[in-house]
This record gives sequence, C-alpha cells and structure tokens, in this order.
Amino acid sequence: MSINGIVDLRSDTVTPPTPAMREAIYRAEVGDDVYGEDPTVNRLEAMAAERMGKEAAIFVASGTMGNLVALLTHCGRGDEVILGDLAHTFLYEAGGSAALGGIHPRPLPNQPDGTLRLEEIEAAIRPDNVHFPRSRLIALENTHNRCHGAAIPPDHFAQVRAIADRHGLKIHLDGARIFNAAVALGVDVREITRYVDSVTFCLSKGLSAPVGSLLCGPADFIAQARRARKVLGGGMRQAGVLAAAGIVALEQMVDRLAEDHRRARRLAEGIAALPGYTIDLDRVQTNIVYFDLAQGDHADRLALVARLKARGVLIGAYPDMGMRAVTHAWVDDEDIERALDALEEAIREGEARRKRDEG
Ligand SMILES: *Cc1c(COP(=O)(O)O)cnc(C)c1O
Repeated sequence: MSINGIVDLRSDTVTPPTPAMREAIYRAEVGDDVYGEDPTVNRLEAMAAERMGKEAAIFVASGTMGNLVALLTHCGRGDEVILGDLAHTFLYEAGGSAALGGIHPRPLPNQPDGTLRLEEIEAAIRPDNVHFPRSRLIALENTHNRCHGAAIPPDHFAQVRAIADRHGLKIHLDGARIFNAAVALGVDVREITRYVDSVTFCLSKGLSAPVGSLLCGPADFIAQARRARKVLGGGMRQAGVLAAAGIVALEQMVDRLAEDHRRARRLAEGIAALPGYTIDLDRVQTNIVYFDLAQGDHADRLALVARLKARGVLIGAYPDMGMRAVTHAWVDDEDIERALDALEEAIREGEARRKRDEG
C-alpha cells in the first residue's frame, strides 16, 4: 500500500485521507460553523458525543487544541492540573495551558503501563491553604504514547474517578488514540470514557482523517469550551469539508485498528528476531513499537534512520526514547516485511561500515 512508494512509520499522523473521505469532502454540505450552521460539523459533533457517551462535543483543529480548550475550560489561572510526567499534554503541547491559561502543572511519575500511582495522586491533591494552588483537574492519557502505546484498562479510570469524587476534582482524558485502547482491550470506548468528565480524541491519527479532533463532555462544559476555542482562534467557518472526512473516519476506520495492532506485533516480533536491536515485546500492545539499537548512541540511530530512508522506510529516532515505528491504515503486510528487510540490511550495512572504519 504505502504512501507514494514510501513505508512511512514515523507516526499515524502521516495518513492521507482515504478515497471515501475525499468523496465525502467533495460532497459535504456546509455552513458557517461559528453561527452553528454547518450541518456536517453538527453531525460529526453529535456522532462523537454519542460514541464517547457524552452529552455534547466540539470539533477542534488538533488534539493539542482539544486538550488546551479542555484545560482552559476546567481550570482558572493559578489552578493546578495533576498529570503524568510523560503525558503529551505535559511534554509536547508547548506549555500551552501554563502560557495561555496560567494553569500550574503538577507532574507525577508515569508508571511503565501508562498509569499514575493512586497514592501519589491522592498525596498530590492540595489542602485548602492560601499557600497552595487549587487542585482542580486530573489529566490522563490513553493509549499512552510515551509509555509504548500502552492501552490502560477501565479499572484504572474507575479508581482515579473515586479519588476525584472524594476531592471534588474533574478528570480530563487525552484520548488522542482512545479507539486504539478500546480495540486493544476489547471494550466499548464508553467503558473507559464513563469515568472521565471530558475526553479529546483525534481523527487525524489512526483514523486517517486529514485534520481535526473532538472534545466531548457535558453540554454546559462544551458550551463554555466554544468560547475558549474562539479565544484561541479556533472558530472555523465552512469546516464541514473537514468534518465530512471525520464522519467517514468514525464510520469506517475504527474497527480496522485491530489490523494496525496485528501488524505492529508482527513488526515487533520481526525486530526481536534480528541481530543488533533490542525490544521489549511485552510492551507492544497497540500500533506503536518502540525499539532501540543494541549498541551505539543517538548519532548511530540517526545514521540508521538515514540508511532506512534510502530504502524507502521512514521511522522516528528520539534521544531519550530510542526508535519508534507506528502502524496505520497506509501500511499493509507487505510493507511490514519490507520494513523488516530494510532494518536487517541497514544494521548489516552499519556494522560493515564500522568494521571497515576500525580496520
Ligand atoms: C498526537 C497526540 C495529541 C495531539 O496532537 P496534535 O498533533 O495536536 O493533533 C495529543 N495527545 C497525544 C497522546 C498524542 O499522541
């Protein structure tokens, strides 16, 4: 399958819209969504709310915007959000909630399975005292990207819910890949989202839509979120052309995520069988495969990435996380075998080069 002949495993964000999405975009009925008059956006928001088991939803430009709008709506200036130290919202959203909302982050160590320790959450909640920011929100992530795409089961959310209720806190879920979690766990997505007040999910990752995310929650919360989205410049007009692709994504692209997980597993097992790489197979649960070179430093990773690129295979390399390959709808079985062949050749070429340099 591949994208222009390239097996692009850098992320599931690289997915172009499917032919069915392009058709739906072409045919989309539109209106001015800031006036609430775009029928296609309205339909997508209703579908998203229903899928997540929430009263309402709002279409936003990106997952980052969805999480930011959620935090700005839940929290005021000087309020505190408890979240994982490996959370996307903490690491990769440009500090938006602090920069724009004056929201104070309270990071707790993410466990390898993506969860937070319950006793650490409880201990992080501030007593009512003028010295402290006010604890307002707990933000969770599922699947957990930096924790190797871990799918976190519903019972963790039930446990965090009990703590939040005891202390009058809200819970926001960064569910950029929540459907991957639900598919991997074999549960309806609502089995997870029922324990959170608000949830963001992305259309533009494994679901292959070109643009957009949805923030879902109670009707009054979403009404306030519309103002936060407008403040951020996220009020879009004839956004139905984008929402049309999102509707196709929800209708056609969710159940097939199991294929991405099966291919990620095949890729991981193939890598485990190759010399020169290390991988923890137990941590490969969804469509994200982290692995590393058995020896070498980050420069060696970058050299490997370049040798793979020369063979038409793209992967990511991170100084603190090793290498990452992500499967998606534009990667088929043949592409996985092609990637494994390239990984084998690239490591051999690297070793031959090292021996030559040494000798
Ligand atoms: C991709 C991602 C987001 C949002 O990213 P955008 O690129 O802004 O859509 C949020 N959280 C997680 C865990 C993600 O992987």
